[in-house]
Amino acid sequence: MTNKDLADLIFPNITKTIEDYEKMYPKRDLPEGAVVTRFAPSPTGFVHIGHIFSSFVANKVAKDTNGVFYLRIEDTDQERKVDGAITNIIRDLNNYNITFDEGMVSETEEKGVYGPYLQSKRKEIYHAFIKHFIEQGMAYPCFCSKDEIDEIRHAQEKRKDRIGYYGRYAKCRKIPIQDAYDKIKDGEEFIIRLKASGDFEKKVVVKDLVRGNISFPENDMDIVIMKKDGLPTYHFAHLVDDYLMRTTHVIRSDEWVSSLPVHVQLFSMLGVKPPKYAHLSPIMKEENGVKRKLSKRKDPECAMKFYHEQGLPTEAVKLYLMTLANTNFEQWMDANKDKTIDDFEFSFSKISKSGGLFDVEKLMNISKNYLSRIKATEFYDMLVKYAKEYDEEFYELITKYKDFTIGLLNIEREQKKPRKDYASFSEVKDLVWYMYDELFDNVEKNYEFSNISSKDEIINLMNTYIEKYYDENDDQQTWFEKIKDLSEEFGYAREVKEYKEDPDNYKGHVGDVSMVIRVSLTTKSMTPNLYDIMKLFGKERIIKRIKELENSL
Ligand code: GLU
Repeated sequence: MTNKDLADLIFPNITKTIEDYEKMYPKRDLPEGAVVTRFAPSPTGFVHIGHIFSSFVANKVAKDTNGVFYLRIEDTDQERKVDGAITNIIRDLNNYNITFDEGMVSETEEKGVYGPYLQSKRKEIYHAFIKHFIEQGMAYPCFCSKDEIDEIRHAQEKRKDRIGYYGRYAKCRKIPIQDAYDKIKDGEEFIIRLKASGDFEKKVVVKDLVRGNISFPENDMDIVIMKKDGLPTYHFAHLVDDYLMRTTHVIRSDEWVSSLPVHVQLFSMLGVKPPKYAHLSPIMKEENGVKRKLSKRKDPECAMKFYHEQGLPTEAVKLYLMTLANTNFEQWMDANKDKTIDDFEFSFSKISKSGGLFDVEKLMNISKNYLSRIKATEFYDMLVKYAKEYDEEFYELITKYKDFTIGLLNIEREQKKPRKDYASFSEVKDLVWYMYDELFDNVEKNYEFSNISSKDEIINLMNTYIEKYYDENDDQQTWFEKIKDLSEEFGYAREVKEYKEDPDNYKGHVGDVSMVIRVSLTTKSMTPNLYDIMKLFGKERIIKRIKELENSL
């Protein structure tokens, strides 16, 4: 009775060998330095910022090196699987322009020749590898019941020993092959465990691209590699998949750092080179002076839904993530205002080891800058998309008055220092509602007059202005000259300077008069350029607004 007999008993139908699979999935023919990497989420239905972050980094590295980026779905834990999760993941990532060269493209379909990319479809491949491990005496069936495992744990707790299935506690490791064979023949349930090759007293050093060399005790745990349902555990699937898919770099969250001793051991037992590893620190949050991981439960900004609902442009979120990914990115961005993320060269050594600190204010600032630099038409298209989903009323208005809205978004945009009014699409309506009669007419007005507040003076100023001075065809300079003329007629200084030199001689200055016009037409004391607003309004609407003012005051 040999290990081979045992392996054949367990996997009677597995005929392909590891060599067969190595031939089916040959080494990739790629240029020197090309990185083959992947995003390998479990389909649990929740896409969070950590997913976007690590897939964004992996995608960037693959692109920078003309490599391959693929999507593998890790559904070996069938109980946690959620319907529609794959579609969700693909949609959310695509939103951030994260796309794949290979892998799953829907719940059931895939592209690429290194698949299947859905782990539950790879059972036969895993079995061939597990069979090989058993044949080589590197894995064995374990028949321990839950009670027996509990007993082992209790004994370890009592002796203050390490918890786990190892060394003298690894009961089934010692079962003679014949006995194991008979038990299986008799229909006894079992799982497969790795016969760990490590010695806990010895050290293994693993190089991580982010953290440098990390030293661990060797793995001596006989971890489970195949569960009762015949599917492999994550660790074993990682070995088989990343080997056969010819992954060169594993870029993933640092919750897996502690599994490294197991992972490098698995590769070494198989006799193949492990991929390079880059473990990304989680995004942190500071609360009351204490730093902690961003939490799915406590922090809404953890879920991608949050950014979508807020109407934060995906490009701005990406720029922000890049500042978290590479500490030198912000400086680079400031020096290269006309360039995009694609032009920036990512470097593993510039990743923050302690984890980037999530800073909403900074994100908003980046977003403001971004939104101020794009074309008004581009802004408009994104705004329409957002409003269509979240604000039907506003959607109707901005699509009905398309050119008007683009004109509004274009105010003080194409200039050296553009205006920075908006950080997100959800803010736009609250900032510009007064531009639309449909919104303006329906609210209780709160005119924000300041220095000039007498109703008679305001009405007089406005009526004189519209009757005597305002001409739609004036250029901005003439327009302003006329406001100065109006100021003078009413006893206000033409220039602020004049007023300051001799305040007793004037009721105020041209700034006060401009403010009256601004507030009269919009109710707001702060708006984008008044000249442009009035141009967009046209004379008729201005007259209407003055009437409205008379009624409201
Ligand atoms: N399925 C694992 C996860 O979702 C992937 C880890 C890896 O990328 O190796 O965390």
